[in-house]
Amino acid sequence: MFPQSTALPSPQEIPTWVSTYGYVPVEPPPHTDLFAEIQRLKKEKNAILLAHYYQDADIQDIADYVGDSLGLSQKAAETNADIIVFAGVHFMAETAKILNPTKKVLIPDMNAGCSLSDSCPPEAFRAFKEKYPEYKVVSYINTSAAIKAMSDIIVTSSNAVPIVQALPPDWKLIFAPDKNLGLYVMRKTGRQMVLWEGVCMVHTVFSHQKVRALRQQYPDAKLIAHPECEPALLEEADFIGSTTALLNYVINSLDKQFIVATEPGILHQMRKAAPDKELIQAPTEYSCSCNTCPHMKLNTLEKIYNALLYEAPELILPLDLIEAARRPIERMLEMSRALGVISKS
Ligand code: SF4
Repeated sequence: MFPQSTALPSPQEIPTWVSTYGYVPVEPPPHTDLFAEIQRLKKEKNAILLAHYYQDADIQDIADYVGDSLGLSQKAAETNADIIVFAGVHFMAETAKILNPTKKVLIPDMNAGCSLSDSCPPEAFRAFKEKYPEYKVVSYINTSAAIKAMSDIIVTSSNAVPIVQALPPDWKLIFAPDKNLGLYVMRKTGRQMVLWEGVCMVHTVFSHQKVRALRQQYPDAKLIAHPECEPALLEEADFIGSTTALLNYVINSLDKQFIVATEPGILHQMRKAAPDKELIQAPTEYSCSCNTCPHMKLNTLEKIYNALLYEAPELILPLDLIEAARRPIERMLEMSRALGVISKS
């Protein structure tokens, strides 16, 4: 239930409500067919709905494109839509805005942040960077626009290894903000990097002991893990990859059982694409649902419907910040194309 039940707020009320709640807190009229209405509004307003793999299944099913950070930023860079509705978290919507400064980017709930991005506040990072004046900064896409603006190149979990490998060997590198991904990249590339000490609250809750016990129970199951997981878990994994890579692994593997160590939103696409495979969620330390990203799950069909209907909340960024943050993202997209990580179209 939303705090407001008025179906038709005045245009003056919307900004106040959005700044109070972070979303448009209006209950859609009873019996609204949200799927049909969202489709209608998308068509009427030439809007595209982009959704991350960690969104709820109903949001994934109504999205025009579902993907991981790299795929979503590529889609955002290519779209001809006038409005982009981003069902993901704040830094992802920022990336879409940075790549499309003239388009309206809507985020269904402004409160959808990211603990990893928040672990790297701009002022603290600036001071950290100043300690290493000759170093280039490689930032994971899970950072705020302000951190991106301080970076030389952005990476995602899909392209971090090939991009770091391809950077000039004489470059000294800082990697931020995810230290687990940074350690993984160092191991795969053999390059030393200075790491910012951030972690994702979701990928660090898996229990190594319980995973080990589960593997004894399912000796044929392959353990597949996202590189944001703890190094001890990654060491045991049969396959490590981005969310898209994990999905493709399940689809293409001849194996039938998988223990999946990442956010469970991806299981929806895995089940759709490989219904004959058995997917087992990796157990967490405290037998909680804490492997579910609370930020991602703030988005709902109602909030997406309201975002399209009222064209709010809109993500606004200062132009100079957009300009500074765009260069390292474009460098990533260019290098990804050159390295064959994404298509050249
Ligand atoms: S899963 Fe982790 S990195 Fe991804 S949005 Fe949630 S907190 Fe951030």
